[in-house]
Amino acid sequence: MNKVPTLGNPQNTIEVLNKYKFVFQKKFGQNFLIDTHVLDKIIQAANITKDDFVVEIGPGIGTMTQYLACAARGVAAIEIDKALIPILEDTLSAYDNVTIINQDVLKVDLRALAEEMNGGKPVKVVANLPYYITTPIIMGLFENHVPVESITVMVQKEVADRMQVGPGTKDYGALSLAVQYYAKPYIVANVPPNCFMPRPNVGSAVIRLTTHEESPVTVQDEKLMFSIIRASFNQRRKTLQNGLSHVPELAINKEMTVQVLKEMGLSETIRGEAMTLAQFAEFTDRVLALRA
Ligand code: SAM
Repeated sequence: MNKVPTLGNPQNTIEVLNKYKFVFQKKFGQNFLIDTHVLDKIIQAANITKDDFVVEIGPGIGTMTQYLACAARGVAAIEIDKALIPILEDTLSAYDNVTIINQDVLKVDLRALAEEMNGGKPVKVVANLPYYITTPIIMGLFENHVPVESITVMVQKEVADRMQVGPGTKDYGALSLAVQYYAKPYIVANVPPNCFMPRPNVGSAVIRLTTHEESPVTVQDEKLMFSIIRASFNQRRKTLQNGLSHVPELAINKEMTVQVLKEMGLSETIRGEAMTLAQFAEFTDRVLALRA
């Protein structure tokens, strides 16, 4: 389809908003993109071709959806705000490869959607995410093993940083470890507040997460590893032995932690924030071996 996007600049966005008397909902994290350069950059970074099926989370008035529809074979756009649906039906009326879904993305079975729309083949996720649920959206995609080739998203700058740092930095945490277990993160661009309407109070960044074909570490029980990771960062100033012993469901007491750390040649007072992904994986496998 060789259509040219009509949205992406402030004038056209204002025109659409006025036509429908649209009222921004703060609770839905609505900051619409009004910069064509940023839109081009996102599409380019996502490396979308006519073979691709794209899932867009939060299309807003359909600005990025138009760009995606031009570049991809098909797009499913999931939008929670029902006031935006008639607007999307209007702004996307020229595109016959877009399916609009009026739902909360956290309640959508994205695996089933990929199956239905793309025969179970990996989809590409592209979005200017609502910032209040960035982490659950990304974790949900990974933990539910939705077949995704890559996730190219606009997020809060600070969150993009958190996704790509390693141990020993203040931003390192459960999100960094989860992202790096499943994907290779790459910050594509920093985006200032004036590229959005209304302007957010924070800086933003586009990050691309390319899913690993094979994870950089192997672990017997992925779920247990992430429960251990979460517990050790819940109280990040605590040592690993204290952090884990405070979560009864894990059933890992201080003695077990000390023994495993000793086996690994690590200090018994180590904190989770100093441990690498490979060390968390080894720790998990050794805990399981101890229990066997
Ligand atoms: N993609 C548009 C753009 O770039 O101009 C809008 C991006 S705006 C940051 C986030 C969008 O996500 C809004 O349209 C908002 O209504 C929608 N949204 C918020 N929470 C959602 C949810 N739980 N499920 C689906 N969409 C959601």
